[in-house]
Amino acid sequence: MTTQRTHTFVCPECRRSIEVDDAMRATLLDVGCVVCGEPITESDIADPQTP
Ligand SMILES: [Zn+2]
Repeated sequence: MTTQRTHTFVCPECRRSIEVDDAMRATLLDVGCVVCGEPITESDIADPQTP
């Protein structure tokens, strides 16, 4: 079975909540928030196992 690992990213600047996969997560960490462009850190993206 294919398990899609998704993370919930919440921007600390614009408060936008976005579901992202592993690839998108890496992109966000590299380029920042897709909405406002603010640099983000790993702590802004929840781990999929975290309730
Ligand atoms: Zn933002």
